Amino acid sequence: MKIFHCGGTSVYMVGGGGMGLSHPCDSHVYVIENGGEAAMIDVGSGIAPEEIQARVLEDGIPMSTIKTLILTHSHWDHGRGAAWWVAATGARLAVHRLGVRTLQEQLWPSSHVQRHGVASRRARVDLPLEDGDSIEVGALALEVVHTPGHSDDSISLLARVDDRKLLFGGDTCFAEGGHGTVNADTDFRAYRASVRRLAALKVDMLFPGHKQFVLSRAHAHVAMLDRRMSGSWTSMVDTRVPFFPTWWLEHDASLYEDAARVV
Ligand SMILES: [Zn+2]
Repeated sequence: MKIFHCGGTSVYMVGGGGMGLSHPCDSHVYVIENGGEAAMIDVGSGIAPEEIQARVLEDGIPMSTIKTLILTHSHWDHGRGAAWWVAATGARLAVHRLGVRTLQEQLWPSSHVQRHGVASRRARVDLPLEDGDSIEVGALALEVVHTPGHSDDSISLLARVDDRKLLFGGDTCFAEGGHGTVNADTDFRAYRASVRRLAALKVDMLFPGHKQFVLSRAHAHVAMLDRRMSGSWTSMVDTRVPFFPTWWLEHDASLYEDAARVV
């Protein structure tokens, strides 16, 4: 499903359990394409990768054009399908260096599938990533931003298309100020610093690992999480739907001009 096109760059959503696009256990799976070359961002749970492949082919993307598989982090719903996708495309596999061990050795020992006796396959990481790395997709550059918090190997990917900034945020930041799963081991200090860094980017579009994507004014969604994380612990708990139509009017005065326009 093509969700963005500008100039020579297209973004497709080809998987996502929560969206009903592929197996329910899958994270969102995106393909970004430029100049006949593509990268897949996250590869899903590996439970039914054929469903994701069907979406790729429906969108007219030849499997051979997928040159890089990039994981936003090594959690199993995002990365367990890596071995299947490496075999299916011949693409190189990229993950933050702190996620390499999970892909090559550990194989999600605490995942639901493993606990139910379903084995996982090892995948060799070709490209261990560091903050500041750049991954080429045709003429486009995907900038790696290390955003630890949800996991220590979480990265976000920033692309600049014309004057717009696109962010693939993994599970670090969701729409409407949502955040990825946290637990007692979470490094909240690191998580907050990561969100603050993303907020400073003032991105236009957010393609997260779960829930809905945002095609304009995404910076407001990131800023909302930044504010929530900077407040008291209780502010992390959802008490209401954070965005509603008048929210924008309350928080972006320039929109009153739009609202005042007689149509
Ligand atoms: Zn995750």
